[in-house]
Amino acid sequence: MPLEHTPTTAAPASAAPVATHPLAVAPVTGPPSSVDGFVREFLNNLNYEQGVALSSSSPNDRYLALAYTVRDYLMARWLEDQRRQREVQAKGVCYLSAEYLLGRQLDNNLLAARLTDIATEAMAACGIDIDDLRQLEVEPGLGNGGLGRLAACFIDSLATMSVPSTGYGLRYEYGIFRQTFVDGEQIEQPDAWLTLGSPWEFPHPEAAQTIGFGGYTEKYDDEGVARSRWVPGWTVQAVPYNYMVPGYHNGRVNTLRLWSAVASSAFDLRIFNAGDYAEAVRAQTFAENISKVLYPEDSTPQGKELRLQQQYFFVAASIHDFLEHSLSPDFDLANLPDRVIFQLNDTHPVIAVPELMRVLVDEKGMKWDAAWAITQQCFAYTCHTLLPEALEMWSVDLLGRLLPRHLEIIYRINDEFLAAVRERFGDDEMRIRNMSIIADFPERSVRMAFLATVAGAKVNGVAELHSQLLREKVLPDFDEFYPGKFTNVTNGVTPRRFVRLANPGLASLITEALGAGWTVDLERLRGLEAFAEDPEFRAKFAEVKAANKRRLSDVLRTRDGFEVSDGHMLDVMVKRLHEYKRQMLKVLHIVTLYEGIASGRVAAADVQPRTFIFGAKAAPGYVMAKRIIHLINAVGSVVNADPRVEGRLQVLFPPNYNVTLAERVIPAADLSEQISLAGKEASGTGNMKFALSGALTIGTDDGANVEIRQLVGDDNFFLFGMTEPEVEALWAKGYKPSDFYQADEGLRRAIDLIASGAFSGGDRSTFEPIVSNLLYDDRFMVLADYASYIAAQARVDAAYADQDAWTRSSILNVARSGFFSSDRSIRDYIDRIWHTPPVL
Ligand SMILES: *Cc1c(COP(=O)(O)O)cnc(C)c1O
Repeated sequence: MPLEHTPTTAAPASAAPVATHPLAVAPVTGPPSSVDGFVREFLNNLNYEQGVALSSSSPNDRYLALAYTVRDYLMARWLEDQRRQREVQAKGVCYLSAEYLLGRQLDNNLLAARLTDIATEAMAACGIDIDDLRQLEVEPGLGNGGLGRLAACFIDSLATMSVPSTGYGLRYEYGIFRQTFVDGEQIEQPDAWLTLGSPWEFPHPEAAQTIGFGGYTEKYDDEGVARSRWVPGWTVQAVPYNYMVPGYHNGRVNTLRLWSAVASSAFDLRIFNAGDYAEAVRAQTFAENISKVLYPEDSTPQGKELRLQQQYFFVAASIHDFLEHSLSPDFDLANLPDRVIFQLNDTHPVIAVPELMRVLVDEKGMKWDAAWAITQQCFAYTCHTLLPEALEMWSVDLLGRLLPRHLEIIYRINDEFLAAVRERFGDDEMRIRNMSIIADFPERSVRMAFLATVAGAKVNGVAELHSQLLREKVLPDFDEFYPGKFTNVTNGVTPRRFVRLANPGLASLITEALGAGWTVDLERLRGLEAFAEDPEFRAKFAEVKAANKRRLSDVLRTRDGFEVSDGHMLDVMVKRLHEYKRQMLKVLHIVTLYEGIASGRVAAADVQPRTFIFGAKAAPGYVMAKRIIHLINAVGSVVNADPRVEGRLQVLFPPNYNVTLAERVIPAADLSEQISLAGKEASGTGNMKFALSGALTIGTDDGANVEIRQLVGDDNFFLFGMTEPEVEALWAKGYKPSDFYQADEGLRRAIDLIASGAFSGGDRSTFEPIVSNLLYDDRFMVLADYASYIAAQARVDAAYADQDAWTRSSILNVARSGFFSSDRSIRDYIDRIWHTPPVL
């Protein structure tokens, strides 16, 4: 095909004023949707953006040109939607999140724009296998885990449902670290995701915001009115990078705007000119550090000054951006609640509350009470945890140094709030202390969750059980004080990425059975219930699962050199490593099975062949989590190499679990491990991805597991473990893990084997801290749930022996999990919190 060089006509270089040129007023229409059109656009991009000919282009050139081409197709709609969002003046959502765990963009954007087939053919016409280009994309890992992935699912649903909205966040230069293993231990490598170019982003340095820090506040007289103002000590420029967020097949393209920190040039040039180059660079580095790295923490507080800088930096930039660019110049700010709701994704963006107050009162001259009434309608807060140690607190000392005016505002909010509490409940000092936004111990600090609760129009938990515990256990005084403020919105996941893209075989089978339409109306999956009784459909469904396993096997072979054995049950636990999630319970199960074989008490031939797959990153400073990773790898090395096992148990731990790996592992899974201690997992979303892929869950009554089990039915779910009230009762009674160790022979054998050094070359010290933690501390009651877990796993084995019945259960899991679409979550947010109807 002679397509080497087919540039389109260049736009005439013209000095005419932009608005009078005919091309300038014509709407952007986008390239034609044909293979030839796509090829032309692709070659143009290769030539004019990458500056190479097809024959001399590198794979990365081709990937970038392909990405640019997809962008070109979306561009007309994006520009149109931005124009309309300004023009229609409808109420919209500003989703404020410190994390967006996006995953790869190419396939998602091809799917949304209906370009998958055209692009595949176009690449083939150029002699390129599009799969080779897919592999080159580096996923932007701008999040730690579930919370960041939720934000990514939500912006996808918002676009698909045509809700006016913008996602705001941080453009970290280094996202979540890349995990490698050396001798089984986690080593963190920097995630330099921008190195080979980032074709999906549009920088807008001209729209930068200036963000202040430090300095002091002063009072002044404004024509008889006493006012305060903030005089920052230094400033940083926030440069927005825009990303397209295309809706699925609806022509809608929303925006994700991520902020990058750049040094304000004025002052370092002065230093530079004075000859102190090192100091000039230091100042620049200091400023630009703000968006340098994602904090690799997952639900633990991180009292780092830089983190507070990051939080303020992105929310201040976002609020100013919204006020400047989305409202007309004559807009009456008294009506702000009619135009925007700022959704706070956990406490990370809560410093936005005093920032909006500061803007309204100090900059716009509004009266405090009026500003506060507006602010309380413009924010809503999503809580993501139940772990008390994960509730963010900022020391008054740090906050006062970094954001002195904001601290004053927080104090005043607190004073007025506590006065109202006194009015209602009298001088109940205990209650006052418990409800104060300012904590006195262990140091004077600001409780960000309390601030968000006081300021938010609504506060929501992320699963029914979580919302209930939030009201009853975490914030009971607030629930009493603010009737109706607390609500629930159960999390969801986008069926576009996690079914259509990750599981194309299943997607085709569903469409074959139910017709199209389910991708945006996931409750239609109910229609599959009837097919569960059809042997022919079951056979096809089982073949899809088998094909997904073969695909995973190929991925793990190329990626990690692993060989996945045929005919094994795939038993999968993938999620961040945290003690409350109880990867240790899974390890004890594996060690129990292995010990049975190794001791000769159980014949290998009698063991159900299973491949255990783990995926988990540990926060770099979380020592116990890293030890557990080491133990999993150590157990894997021994079990996989022991000939007595006869290959019937296999433990695989591919490093660097991320969205791309999740998309391959989850569709292949038979069994989904959701085994947190009841009352600790807020919701989980991995559990939903598995159920929608037809994996059966073995799980506790925790988070959204509760709702999954209610929907799929007890026959199609392996429940075990204590309930949350039982957990509480055991704590109250006095939990002694060693009692469980003494009483259960299987448990004793498993723990003793680990303690013996069997997985550490005879060295008993390596895993001693894990063993003693289990025996003498065991905060997450692993030992108390062990027996129940082992019994449930025996039920799993028995159920798996009847493959046809298992497949039927698997189909029913898919059929009954439509509720877990993030489209449903967004509908609930609209109905219960936002009141932002779609704008079609
Ligand atoms: C869905 C997802 C998570 C969240 O998993 P949970 O099991 O809910 O903790 C974390 N990381 C990645 C990459 C995911 O895709």
